[in-house]
Amino acid sequence: MTAKLIDGKAAAVAVRDKVAAGVAQFEPRAGRPPGLATVLVGDDPASAVYIRSKNRVTAETGMASFSHNLSDNTTEAELLDLVGALNADDRVDGILVQLPLPAQIDATRVIETIESGKDVDGFHPMNAGRLATGLPSLVPCTPFGCLHLLKAELGSLAGLEAVVIGRSNIVGKPMAALLLGENATVTICHSRTRDLPNVVRRADIVVAAIGRPEMVRGSWIKPGAAVIDVGINRLPTDDGKGRLVGDVAFAEAAEVAGAITPVPGGVGPMTIAMLMRNTLVAAHRRAGLADPEGL
Ligand code: NAP
Repeated sequence: MTAKLIDGKAAAVAVRDKVAAGVAQFEPRAGRPPGLATVLVGDDPASAVYIRSKNRVTAETGMASFSHNLSDNTTEAELLDLVGALNADDRVDGILVQLPLPAQIDATRVIETIESGKDVDGFHPMNAGRLATGLPSLVPCTPFGCLHLLKAELGSLAGLEAVVIGRSNIVGKPMAALLLGENATVTICHSRTRDLPNVVRRADIVVAAIGRPEMVRGSWIKPGAAVIDVGINRLPTDDGKGRLVGDVAFAEAAEVAGAITPVPGGVGPMTIAMLMRNTLVAAHRRAGLADPEGL
């Protein structure tokens, strides 16, 4: 392996430490800690793991954690009622409804019902629109974490060729907007892109958010490029436990890239760290305070 390994775990700890320091300063000024409410509907095992981690880290940073676990047969009206109550609750600065939701619930309606100032996932159309137009917003946590890693690794991104593979609202599109905001030259690829390998070969920065195990091959990577692998895919193993791999063929790509994130231990830990950062920022804005510095 020749590429430098980008340590997302260490970067996430550093962000969480800064958030904890910001929480300690916020509390005496506002008379309460920042608060994050999480909502889990149903018993999807992966979602339950994510929510447990989010609640644990919330408490570790000194914030108030409000956890709501609803049954699989919750109606859309019941969930919207809960979101309404959390919108009205002054102790709650951030609301996170874990996706995916059961089939009877329209996720778009739920996201649109969250007050945009408490939308710490950054999925509300108000926040998406503000990001797209370059206004201050709450930014989706995963791409924000990717940007943080890239800036720490490369410094200025101005003028660099960035290729984002994937155009979802939660990763690909906000990632492209963030890179454009940093003056990179951005190409967004998707399932209809022609000759993807040759598009990727142009890139100084590759962000893969596809959901297809090891699809991006080492031969697609420009020597020295920075590779950010957002994918989380579980491959079956003989012992039944499964093995996590990203969207990039790591061993091959690491022979060519200049820097690369591992899976696990790359982008994943940054997502929760940025959720904590967004909750602290939302708390400051709701309290009429300036955004905390250095985050
Ligand atoms: P998604 O909504 O399924 O979007 C996948 C994107 O990949 C789509 O835009 C799709 O194109 C594109 N795509 C699919 N097959 C392709 C192909 N053969 N060639 C080029 N593009 C292709 O997924 P997502 O929510 O963005 O998540 C992507 C991956 O990131 C998943 O593995 C997910 O588990 C992971 N993820 C990780 C974190 C984290 O914290 N690390 C957070 C979120 C997601 P079309 O639009 O044309 O269909």
